Amino acid sequence: MELDLQPLGLPSDNERPFVIAGPCSAETEEQVMTTARQLAEKGCHMFRAGIWKPRTKPGGFEGNGEKALPWMQEVKKETGMLTATEVATPEHVELALKYGIDVLWVGARTTANPFAMQALADSMRGIENPVLVKNPVNPDLELWIGALERINGAGVKRLGAIHRGFSSYDKKIYRNLPMWQIPIELHRRIPNLPIANDPSHIGGRRDLIAPLSQQAMDLGMDGLIIESHCNPDAAWSDASQQVTPDILDYILSILVIRDEIVTTENITALRKQIDEIDNNIMDLLAKRMRVSREIGQYKKEHGMTVLQTSRYNEILEKRGAQGTLCGINADCVKQIFEAIHEESVNQQIEILNKK
Ligand code: PEP
Ligand code: MN
Repeated sequence: MELDLQPLGLPSDNERPFVIAGPCSAETEEQVMTTARQLAEKGCHMFRAGIWKPRTKPGGFEGNGEKALPWMQEVKKETGMLTATEVATPEHVELALKYGIDVLWVGARTTANPFAMQALADSMRGIENPVLVKNPVNPDLELWIGALERINGAGVKRLGAIHRGFSSYDKKIYRNLPMWQIPIELHRRIPNLPIANDPSHIGGRRDLIAPLSQQAMDLGMDGLIIESHCNPDAAWSDASQQVTPDILDYILSILVIRDEIVTTENITALRKQIDEIDNNIMDLLAKRMRVSREIGQYKKEHGMTVLQTSRYNEILEKRGAQGTLCGINADCVKQIFEAIHEESVNQQIEILNKK
């Protein structure tokens, strides 16, 4: 389905990026107003705050709901910033509009649910507000596009996407794996759809906001949505990933915006993809070595030899055949796995010889 889009028309000092900043959650009137004033002073044009918070487990802070909406109105009145919040149900949409929220975004958990998305889209029929759709929690581009199609199908033309990374069982550096190839592919499929990046939820850590924002800019993304709180350590949700308006201002000031249009045809974007893939390969190799060391421990406890020839042959044969199926020379694949196996054996020998 072709999307029928109009420009988002969001305020920004430069062509790129537009920036939406503010706390994860609207906690108290004072926290909202203090943060908003500090952000406005730094030249920020758009203020975010979660009014309804989807929490993984019950008992966490689930947002103040309607009570916090007048605070957002006050932010707009006093600072002139546009306001933005997450909507997950038709009731949220109705209330957000009633209180003059300018920009609505759909959270990752909602995007993942087609029933919820359709109900939300139906409730947005005829609205003029920009709507930003976060990627679903799982790495499924079609689901993301489907959610955008539902909203666009309801007549919302000021539409954009937010890349906030993807859940994985194995938490490593990132809270949510960026998997840059997915927003890159979204851009290839729908070139005129603006895409913003959410380094706060991808990184889950303050120190990752700057490098992730830079990476997003280098990939040609259009905007940033960043969590900022007047007292991050005391935040009621997502404390570890929020920064003060001061720090946010510094992060934005060191961003390098290259004006070259980056597309997947462009070699720099392709090299970024290669780097990302190599990082994944390194992660997997490290994981494989960990498992291999556990096997070493098992062999030690059961008096087995390190090298089990039949298993070794099985690995080389299987991987060679898989390589052929994937269009990679079987001998090349065998050589790669010989080298990996050799390192595995060395690590196991070390374990066996440890006193
Ligand atoms: C948020 O922006 O605070 C949020 C809950 O994000 P996500 O839907 O990406 O988890
Ligand atoms: Mn958050």
